[in-house]
Amino acid sequence: MKKILVTGGAGFLGSHLCEKLLNENNEVICLDNYFTGNKKNIIHLLDNPYFELVRHDITSPFFIEVDEIYNLACPASPIHYQYNPIKTVKTSVMGAINMLGLAKRIRCKVLQASTSEVYGDPVVHPQKEEYWGNVNPIGLRSCYDEGKRCAETLFFDYHRQNNVKIKVIRIFNTYGPRMHPNDGRVVSNFIVQALQGKDITIYGSGNQTRSFCYVDDLIRGMVAMMNTGDDVIGPVNIGNPNEFTIKELAEMVVDLVGTKSKIVYKPIAADDPQQRQPVIDKAKRLLNWEPTIQLREGLLKTIEYFEKELQNK
Ligand code: NAD
Ligand code: UDP
Repeated sequence: MKKILVTGGAGFLGSHLCEKLLNENNEVICLDNYFTGNKKNIIHLLDNPYFELVRHDITSPFFIEVDEIYNLACPASPIHYQYNPIKTVKTSVMGAINMLGLAKRIRCKVLQASTSEVYGDPVVHPQKEEYWGNVNPIGLRSCYDEGKRCAETLFFDYHRQNNVKIKVIRIFNTYGPRMHPNDGRVVSNFIVQALQGKDITIYGSGNQTRSFCYVDDLIRGMVAMMNTGDDVIGPVNIGNPNEFTIKELAEMVVDLVGTKSKIVYKPIAADDPQQRQPVIDKAKRLLNWEPTIQLREGLLKTIEYFEKELQNK
């Protein structure tokens, strides 16, 4: 049995990760400051004697003896990470330093949940790990993009300088049950709008693209990365390479929900990436991983979740 620390464990991805690690007979310590996470996401785990919940902010050091650390703590939706951008940078950078310092001290593996946002508004398409990206260093998205880029730098420098065993994955847009209904991300927004019969809000022309990965596929890839040998450090893209325009997504949600909602167009935010699609050859080769749940199927599961959530309100 391994003892595993999950930072940001009460969030969307973190709660699914805690669940999977417990199901695989590990002991899990979930650390969260509840900024965007919620005890509700992990309430079903609280009775498990191998699960422990700690309220802590990773901008402060944390000491514990564990075998592995998954570092997920960081608000992920633009609304949330732009709410207090300075805090977002601190969470990414100081959080990384604190978790790397801990990993160095106790000699354990540490995995960083990095992001496709390190590619910014990419001029190379689709995105391979070798692409250095096109990020505005002073824009509204920079606190997140540059914070995550700096965290990657710290991971590689701790590895080179201190031999810390690192794993870096770059996560592309992921969706599924337990997304925050009001966090403004496109999949949750469209589904909630459709279920409530409200207008579906497309920002810009709707011709911008994203490639959406279902949460179960993503978590499987994340754990596969942690379980690779010490020579596999990444970065490795984890995402679903099937690319859709935002307009196609809106039409699919309207169709699947069977709503009378109208699609309306609103102004697009500055620096909104025009296109995004992962190349996942590295994940296929090194992790023997590829996604199995395609958008229609994943959306149906997510719609079912939000239907229940809205009924319980
Ligand atoms: P989320 O906002 O649901 O989860 C983040 C969690 O971190 C929350 O529980 C929050 O309370 C916690 N947190 C935030 N700041 C903290 C701090 N200073 N100290 C302790 N806890 C803190 O987001 P998510 O979608 O679950 O994302 C998890 C991780 O994956 C993030 O690091 C995010 O950048 C990364 N990621 C997610 C996606 C995606 O599509 N969901 C894509 C790329 C990368
Ligand atoms: N988007 C949209 N309507 C919404 C929410 C988002 O058209 O109600 C667009 C947004 O402008 C972006 C895409 O959907 O082009 C994905 O947005 P999200 O915030 O989910 O993720 P990110 O931009 O960080 O990839």
